[in-house]
Amino acid sequence: MSRRVRVYEGSAVEVTYDVARCIHAARCVRGLPAVFDTRRKPWIEPDRADSADELVRVIETCPTGALTYRRLDGGADEQPSADATVAASRDGPLHARGRIVVVGPAGEAITRGTRLALCRCGASASKPFCDGSHVEAGFSDP
Ligand code: SF4
Repeated sequence: MSRRVRVYEGSAVEVTYDVARCIHAARCVRGLPAVFDTRRKPWIEPDRADSADELVRVIETCPTGALTYRRLDGGADEQPSADATVAASRDGPLHARGRIVVVGPAGEAITRGTRLALCRCGASASKPFCDGSHVEAGFSDP
């Protein structure tokens, strides 16, 4: 699995974007269009947010964990929910929330995260993560 992870550093928050895990759900561009603008390079500019708290609130709505952050201003990092949950989405991936560790065949940790979307259709090129291929594959499970 090839991984392309990019880091965008602001004065108060460092934002990390994992390309392979983005399924273009657009929560980021709808939530804070001044910060997340795919027509611009770089497409993420953390310092365009009115506040660090607002920026991290929007990042935490990213359903796949493609967006994560590190506070540089002493603010609290993301707190996973007490329970770990996995929910199937309509015609789409499994959404895992909580303190999640994805392990490989030998039990090795592949990824740790608080928000993950896991392939349910079998078509993803980034398994075990969803890459949005369920749409083109016509996966259906209401
Ligand atoms: S998956 Fe995350 S980074 Fe990708 S468009 Fe959706 S909210 Fe933005």
